[in-house]
Order: sequence, then structure tokens, then C-alpha cells
Amino acid sequence: MTPAVRCDGVVQIYKTKEIEVVALRDIDLVIEEGESVAFLGPSGAGKSTLLWLLAGLLRPSAGRLWLGDTEIGKLGPRALDRLRAADIGVVLQNPARNLIPYATAVQNVTFAQRAVRRRGRRPAGDLLDRVGLTAVRDKPAGRLSGGEQQRLAVAIALANRPRLLLADEPTSQLDAVTGQAVIELIRDLGTTSVVVTHDVRVSEATGRTVTIRDGRIGAEGRGGEDFVVVGREGAVQLPPEYHELLPPGSMVRVEPLPDGVVLRRAEP
Ligand code: ADP
Ligand code: MG
Repeated sequence: MTPAVRCDGVVQIYKTKEIEVVALRDIDLVIEEGESVAFLGPSGAGKSTLLWLLAGLLRPSAGRLWLGDTEIGKLGPRALDRLRAADIGVVLQNPARNLIPYATAVQNVTFAQRAVRRRGRRPAGDLLDRVGLTAVRDKPAGRLSGGEQQRLAVAIALANRPRLLLADEPTSQLDAVTGQAVIELIRDLGTTSVVVTHDVRVSEATGRTVTIRDGRIGAEGRGGEDFVVVGREGAVQLPPEYHELLPPGSMVRVEPLPDGVVLRRAEP
């Protein structure tokens, strides 16, 4: 089966007047249809950048990116807009940026639905019920609390039953109980989803975690176990807890074993 998402050597470089920032380097990633993935990693690691690339909001500086059979980089602006409206639900990191502030909560969801003709999606009211916003459905979105806006953003992202749901820290302003409800909603949809998070409850609810550090995929977790990922040309990122044993710049001996290698610090 074609995976839902495939990144092949994706690089993202931001160019500002003075400097270039390499936000992502050589990202290889496959997400299967129906998978639920959490992106973890320190601030500035490149999590949001990768999410924006998957959302078609940025074009990679290098490398290739597919959503299903469609290579994003090959689409013109119109086709990309159509794909985004019909197939991708996005929750941006700043909840207010997902909303039309003067429209009510329910109008925000119906506006999103009006952009796409589709059968079998949930009525706006049902979606608001699911995220616990029934009582404020007729309030202007701009007057909702940060947590309510975050839940509304999730309802809007789900409005057209997207094939891919992308959410950047969707529970950052929610208390434990509402955060849990939002995560369960996302997971129970069975939609392919990627959630950037610092919240361990979120990463426990997803089957798979991808840890990004310094613009690279350093580790992956599956079923509660963490693995370091061997990248292009054999590069591995040592988990931070081993930096004291093997500080950056260390010379090491690589000794083969039947099922892998060991690294031993060489005396200087
Ligand atoms: P994260 O979401 O993991 O905190 P980001 O993807 O936001 O990380 O940022 C990755 C790197 O790219 C950081 O060094 C950040 O400063 C830089 N960056 C992000 N957005 C821009 C931008 N629009 N212009 C220049 N640099 C940026
Ligand atoms: Mg971010």
C-alpha cells in the first residue's frame, strides 16, 4: 500500500537577510495510512518546520515529499490549495491563527466545510460537541479562552474529514482532562495523524514517536521502546543521556558484534 506520507532527503533552509538557518537536514520518513505519530524534541529542533512541509505550507529547499501518490513539490499553487482544503487538516501552534475571530464557533466550522464538497462528514454541531464546546457554539471565536480556541481549531481541522491531520502542540493550553479528550478524539478517528507535542500523555496515546534534534530524526519510539535511528551515511545521534560518557568531539573505537557495533572512547 502507498504510505500516507513519504519524505526522501528533505532539507529546509530559511534564508533571512543576514543568515541561513538549516532547520531540517536529510529527513527520511514514512508514515503509513492510519498511523498516529508524535513529533518530539527540544525547542528549535525543526518539528514545526516539518509539520509545515507536510501541510504544504512550505516547499522543501531540497528533497522530495509525497502525500499518498501526490508529490507535493510538483503541484502548482491551485492544485496545492485544493489538496490542502480537501485532504489535510491543520492545527497551527498559535490557536488564534486557525480561527476567524468575529465568526462564532459553529460558523468557523461551517466556513471550513463550505470550502469543500464532501459527503459523510459530521455536522458542525457534532464536532463541537466532541471537543466540548457545545455551550459556547454561538460565541465569537475571538472571545473564547485560549484552551477553547485550541479545541475549536481541532474541530475546524477535522471539519472535512481530512486524510491527514497535522497538529502543532494542540494541547499546550488545555488542562489534563480536556487535553486527554482532544487526544482521544484525534486517535479514535483512525485518521493518519501527526502531533507535535511536549506532552507525554500525547506521545503515550500515539503508537509511534519520532524525536527530532538539530534538524534530524534522531530516535523513534514504538510500543513504549525507544530506538536510535541510523541515518544517511550511517550517522547516529547519541541520546543526550550519553553525552557525558561520549562528549561531542570524542574519538571512539567502533567494534563490530554479530548484531551491531559498540562504541568505546579512545584515550586521547
Ligand atoms: P521547533 O518547532 O522544533 O521548535 P522550528 O521548526 O520552529 O522548531 O524551528 C527550527 C529552526 O528554524 C530554529 O532554529 C528556528 O529558529 C528556525 N526558524 C523557524 N522558522 C523560521 C523562519 N520563518 N525564518 C528563519 N528561521 C526560522
Ligand atoms: Mg514549534
